Amino acid sequence: METIIRGIPVSQGVAIGPVYVLGSVESKLPPSYLSDEELIPGEVDRFQQAVAKAQAEITKLKSSVQADARQDVGPIFDAHILILSDPSLNSEVLRRIQRNRMTAEYAVQCTIGEYVRGLKGKPFLNPRINDMQDIERRLLRAILGRQYEELHSLGREVVIIAHDLTPSQTADMDRDHILGFATDIGGTTGHTAIVARAREIPAVVGLGNISDTIQSGTEVILDGSRGLLIISPQESTRAAYEKMRADFRRFGAELLSESGRPAVTLDGCRVHVQGNIEFPQETESIVRNSADGIGLYRTEFIYLENEGEPDEETHFSSYSRVVKAAAGRPVTIRTLDLGYDKAFHLQDGENFTLEKNPGLGCRAIRYCFANPDLFRNQIRAICRASAFGEVKMLIPMVSSRDEVQKVIRLVKSVQERLSDEGVACDPDMQIGIMVEVPSVALTLDHFCDICDFFSIGTNDLIQYLLAVDRANEQVAQLYRPEHPSVLRTIKNIIDSAQAGNVPVSMCGEMAGDPMFVLFLLGLGLRNFSVSPPQIPEVKKIIRTSSLESARKVADSVMSLSSARDVRNCLRGAAAKYF
Ligand code: PEP
Ligand code: MG
Repeated sequence: METIIRGIPVSQGVAIGPVYVLGSVESKLPPSYLSDEELIPGEVDRFQQAVAKAQAEITKLKSSVQADARQDVGPIFDAHILILSDPSLNSEVLRRIQRNRMTAEYAVQCTIGEYVRGLKGKPFLNPRINDMQDIERRLLRAILGRQYEELHSLGREVVIIAHDLTPSQTADMDRDHILGFATDIGGTTGHTAIVARAREIPAVVGLGNISDTIQSGTEVILDGSRGLLIISPQESTRAAYEKMRADFRRFGAELLSESGRPAVTLDGCRVHVQGNIEFPQETESIVRNSADGIGLYRTEFIYLENEGEPDEETHFSSYSRVVKAAAGRPVTIRTLDLGYDKAFHLQDGENFTLEKNPGLGCRAIRYCFANPDLFRNQIRAICRASAFGEVKMLIPMVSSRDEVQKVIRLVKSVQERLSDEGVACDPDMQIGIMVEVPSVALTLDHFCDICDFFSIGTNDLIQYLLAVDRANEQVAQLYRPEHPSVLRTIKNIIDSAQAGNVPVSMCGEMAGDPMFVLFLLGLGLRNFSVSPPQIPEVKKIIRTSSLESARKVADSVMSLSSARDVRNCLRGAAAKYF
């Protein structure tokens, strides 16, 4: 029977196909057996080495976490080490390898799966279930390395369903086979959603406990525009969605074919539409979508492509590649915004930190100041890349003037050093800041004399203004870009920047939302930076509008006191474009 479940739409498009439930017991690994008895000793060895590796990892993790933690977390890790050396668990796995000729990974999965099923009827043992699953994950990773749960080589077309996906898993998805994804948790401007949009993967998040209730193989339709997951669709629903999918593709192709034209309003105002990227290879879509440049290069994603800490050369090779491929377009390189939900290398490595409230913690520029060598390496690489084209440096999560001045001093010292070494760089490279923390938004006039440009980061600005975690589906209905306080703050930022003669752009997700384009234009925004697939649509809206009509929209919206009224008004004004 057809069932429709509603979640949060985060990436447009329609996906139709069978489900693959990631992380569920039945779909983690397919059954696998040894072809020959002679392989058994080697398999036993693989398992025992994995146990030793897992134990060493946990011991290391325990001491690094312990150093920072306020509370004694040692017993959690001690329990994991104890479980790993539990003789009955070990002999169960070995029995499956030796008697049933299972591979080490399949034997681990079956053994732990059996333990977990045994614990499930006993709610007071729930924490133990998490421990067991954690150990299973660690052991499988130790046995299989990066192959485990990799999403880049599935080999068949599926719609992924998972409890949650990390930005790295989303970045790694095999686009030939993954049609779309849906998750139990997540929010519109979490980084998983941002990567999904950049890669044009239809996605819906915040679906409750869908990953527990749906079986792999079930046919579904995922509607990323309306946030729907339609389970076992009727033939008529399927036919309607197949048509919608074809229309969606045709509309995209039409927009793309016009995207080469500049974004000039009907009354002659030139607007710049740039693109946001996470990976150097996305520069190709900047060029294809005819962007005016790269308004945001999120460099923290370098950590995805490299094991361990990237050195100066690794940074430099990515940046110089982007600058060269941008072929004369300006490239805005943002310094590392690690932390919060972009804590890739913090997950298992020695820098593991447990922060209670990472959105307000040691993130971005704070993390860079706490790790001066890492920061200096990145600044050197950015300065070196500035010899190849127009490079601007953007600092995230700034909350005070002192922080900007400290970065400017650091950049100057790096430039002097490079010049002593005879290494080319642009001594006039522009340095700007993300306006995404309310303290900066409120006092932007204090930053005009020290910044070359501003970039409004609405994703964080909204979460910090409204006190709503951008990645938490439980409060997603409170995350309202159309909240009057957000609109007023954005107006004040644009006004202050104009009064101080400092160019201002917007690189948060709001800039690419068709509903807001006219309004932002009316407030005076002339630089948009959006996900590359959104560029053609944003340009088209600008080309078919006049500044006069945009100002009228902005005026009428600014007088409204409720988010619902704002939404209705903006939707009405944008209706003609859809
Ligand atoms: C923002 O906060 O709006 C932004 C563009 O940066 P990020 O999404 O990487 O935090
Ligand atoms: Mg941000």
